[in-house]
Amino acid sequence: MNFTKFIGLSISLLVPIFSANSALSAHSIKLYTIDCGSYDVADMKSLSSIGAYDGQKLPMANPCFLIRHPKGDLLWETGHVDSLADNINGEVGGVWHAKLKTKLVVQLAQLNIKPQDIEYLSLSHVHPDHAGNANKFDSSMFIVNELEHKYMFSEPVISYFGEYYSALDKAKTIAFSDEYDVFDDGSVVIKSMPGLTPGSSVLLVRLNKTGKILLTGDLYLHAQGRKLNTVLQYNVKAVTLDSRIKFEVLVKKENARVIIQHDKQDFERLPVFPKYLN
Ligand SMILES: [Zn+2]
Repeated sequence: MNFTKFIGLSISLLVPIFSANSALSAHSIKLYTIDCGSYDVADMKSLSSIGAYDGQKLPMANPCFLIRHPKGDLLWETGHVDSLADNINGEVGGVWHAKLKTKLVVQLAQLNIKPQDIEYLSLSHVHPDHAGNANKFDSSMFIVNELEHKYMFSEPVISYFGEYYSALDKAKTIAFSDEYDVFDDGSVVIKSMPGLTPGSSVLLVRLNKTGKILLTGDLYLHAQGRKLNTVLQYNVKAVTLDSRIKFEVLVKKENARVIIQHDKQDFERLPVFPKYLN
């Protein structure tokens, strides 16, 4: 359930190429934020490679996002594994205390969606707080950075975390390098931002009323970390910092609202499911 040691692989630095913008179908895109659990971090020591937060505590959100587009549904992240909700006290792994109130499948059912109805699945990266329920979505088209795909099915990563996502090895898969335009209209674009893992990614969503949203994955973990540009101990620091430079250029270029996915305040500012942004 917790972050574990980073397994170093050689990482290609990839320059995102901006795809053509089209507002063709942006009017009917909906972005739902789903509460896929939380973390209470007893000591933020590991959140900085230079000891910036030693001894501090941090409550973290752990959302999933459902994007409903006329061409299909994309689930971005699958959260903590649903079985965590069976234990009201959650689960403790080191300084990480994970909890889940309501199972993802139960929340999706509120919209009459079953896992097999989801056309597209993508994860910012394969750590268990993001890939916890991935096995349930093996009938979706799995969209993944090609280096992340190689990483997640390599040893020892598959032995550590495979119980959550191993069924995806047989899923229909689109493996991309630098970016992927999910609906081919510029409205929902996955962009590679490596550092925590070799193929970590962020998601750009262009909404008609709300404007542009950038979901960070774990490129940043909390607002202060973005402000101070601190890097989790498990990251490849230089690669992460390079990705962040590209990310901040993208934020300015798109004039996008940044949602740091694990940041509790960012999460609480979003509409409560099943309300949505459009
Ligand atoms: Zn995470």
